[in-house]
Amino acid sequence: MASPPEALAHAPLEWDTPLYRMAVAQFDQAVPVADIPDDIAERLRYPERSIIVSIPVRMDEGHRVVFPGYRVQHSSILGPTKGGIRYDLEVSLGECAALAMWMTWKCALLRLPYGGAKGGVRCEPRSMSLPEVERLTRRFTSDLLPVIGPQEDIPAPDMATNEQTMAWMMDTYSMQRGYAVPEIVTGKPISIGGSVFRHEATGAGVVMVMMRACDKLGWRLDAQRCVVQGFGNVGGIAAHELHALGARVVAVSDVSGGIHSEAGLDIPALEEYAHLHGSLEGCTAGLRVTNEELLELDCDILVLAAREDQITGENAWRVRARMIAEGANGPTSLEADQILGERRILVLPDILTNAGGVTVSYFEWVQDLGRLFWTRDEIRAKLAEKLSDAFDRVWDLAEDREVSLRTAALVSGIREVSNALEARGIFP
Ligand code: GLU
Repeated sequence: MASPPEALAHAPLEWDTPLYRMAVAQFDQAVPVADIPDDIAERLRYPERSIIVSIPVRMDEGHRVVFPGYRVQHSSILGPTKGGIRYDLEVSLGECAALAMWMTWKCALLRLPYGGAKGGVRCEPRSMSLPEVERLTRRFTSDLLPVIGPQEDIPAPDMATNEQTMAWMMDTYSMQRGYAVPEIVTGKPISIGGSVFRHEATGAGVVMVMMRACDKLGWRLDAQRCVVQGFGNVGGIAAHELHALGARVVAVSDVSGGIHSEAGLDIPALEEYAHLHGSLEGCTAGLRVTNEELLELDCDILVLAAREDQITGENAWRVRARMIAEGANGPTSLEADQILGERRILVLPDILTNAGGVTVSYFEWVQDLGRLFWTRDEIRAKLAEKLSDAFDRVWDLAEDREVSLRTAALVSGIREVSNALEARGIFP
């Protein structure tokens, strides 16, 4: 290894931002428990490859705007890198690096043959027209052509991207190859090789993990009062599943703020409202609350399915839930984790709780490569099996080593990657 003056840790790191530091701090907390060699740990502390592109997009009025785009591939030890593409004003190299690292642990924890990646474009998608988003997506895909591929790096949806975005990515890639390459992305429409149940997989997986935790604790999920932050592909589906299972969803929120009803919200009615109006803005199904108030509502389970950095050292003392389920990536800060631990509020960690999405992405990729498709029931059952297996390994390790579920989940993922890296060796 390089001596300190040359070591990467002593050079300025372009991706070194608060979120990346948080991912590394979590990694550093897990390493002593994982008990892996120092040189392996040092290698895994950094992403393998980080790319910045500038994407010129013709706007509807005729002028061009250049957007910054990123793709970070954290580890290719276990297979192609895998992870979402997000469109958001907060997107940066550091955010992608942190999220890519979490994807590595998530895929490894679920024993999927992938490493982690993440990418995105810093833009405000809600202020852009669909044709503008299409042009942005196609140019971004084209700029990524040298580094993505079904055996190299496989994008998927993330914040503000969806099946349509993936269809444009798949088409752009396929046009360059000269034939349809469905396996280049996952989370695409079923008509072009997408998988049944991929759309619901992340939210449904969150509820499967919650159910498993309730079983362990002797709680009945249908007797819990739940608050769900986020009403998109993760929060919306989780709220729907919880409501269908008989749990009382007392509050939900989206970009327009929160809505609260102690008697329980009619989730299908809210879904219809959001579908018709584009958001929950103006909805009178309950009392309006701010995002901050929502996080501090009295409830049993708080589902965080919006974005990172929501429960912090500042508000963690005021959380009144008995359990937190992380549907988003990185929603709980390090300080908050400490406080929630002291307060004995159980946190179901992101890399386990929201892993349903990438797990069904894996099923989608396998189906695309084999050109053979499974039924919804088969996929649901395979997902439940994968999540239960990972959950049990994490739960047992946490009990055994007396660590948090987060540390146990990270340790499980890190060990898988470390074993593979040790077996392969570090090139050259
Ligand atoms: N963006 C999702 C995640 O954070 C899904 C990634 C994928 O399906 O590859 O896990």
